[in-house]
Amino acid sequence: MKLLMDMHTHTTYSRNGHGKNTIEEMVNQARKIGLKGLVISDHGRSHPFYGVRKTDFAKMRQEIDALNRRYDDIEIYLSVEANITGRGFIDIEEEELKYCDWISCGYHYGFIPKNIKSFFDFLLPNFLAMLLPFLRPLVRGSNTQCYVDVMEHYPIAMITHPGDKIAIDIEPIAKKAAEKNVILEINPSHGHLSVENIKKAMKYPVCFAVNSDAHSIDRLAKVTGAKEMMAAAGLPNERVINTCPFVEEMK
Ligand SMILES: [Zn+2]
Ligand SMILES: [Zn+2]
Repeated sequence: MKLLMDMHTHTTYSRNGHGKNTIEEMVNQARKIGLKGLVISDHGRSHPFYGVRKTDFAKMRQEIDALNRRYDDIEIYLSVEANITGRGFIDIEEEELKYCDWISCGYHYGFIPKNIKSFFDFLLPNFLAMLLPFLRPLVRGSNTQCYVDVMEHYPIAMITHPGDKIAIDIEPIAKKAAEKNVILEINPSHGHLSVENIKKAMKYPVCFAVNSDAHSIDRLAKVTGAKEMMAAAGLPNERVINTCPFVEEMK
């Protein structure tokens, strides 16, 4: 499967060696393999090890603007993969939002919760449910509502790997995503959306995207397994906004 645009990639702005290549290196690799668009989406800043520094947003914006001026064969966008930091909260503020073309959000381990209440009503229950899987049904309802609320309160363009590391019900999330024009990601490196959840989500008029979540140039646009997941779910190419309809395989 060939992508037209990879909408979820990380650079060295995901700190401490988490992202391996600079924005410019990622852009040049994207051009080399024929992508027409690239979204740089480093981790939101509430992650104490990987997160983008608040002061980096302006620098990233400048770098991307300069690269867009230099190259006319690719469009580069600045995003951030914000962390969900509590029930209905993500870690991006107006001040940072103004630098981004659009934002995505996802659930990750290791974030700093929004506040003490978020520690007790979101981080801790999900931490316990990770350790003791029989608790997962108990957190599913509030987690689902949390995704619905963040779509209601923030201008989110895409939810990354829904259902990865966290118990959710995809149907209310897909319904809200369709209403708010939020894309649901099929992320083969995380295995989410799962085939089962793609099947449930596609009952609603929601858009999907397939992304690499590359943290280095060698992983850019590599989405091995996505085609099989789509086929198993019966999801047609036309519902995935960033695949190239005429080219079946990456070279
Ligand atoms: Zn992620
Ligand atoms: Zn990511």
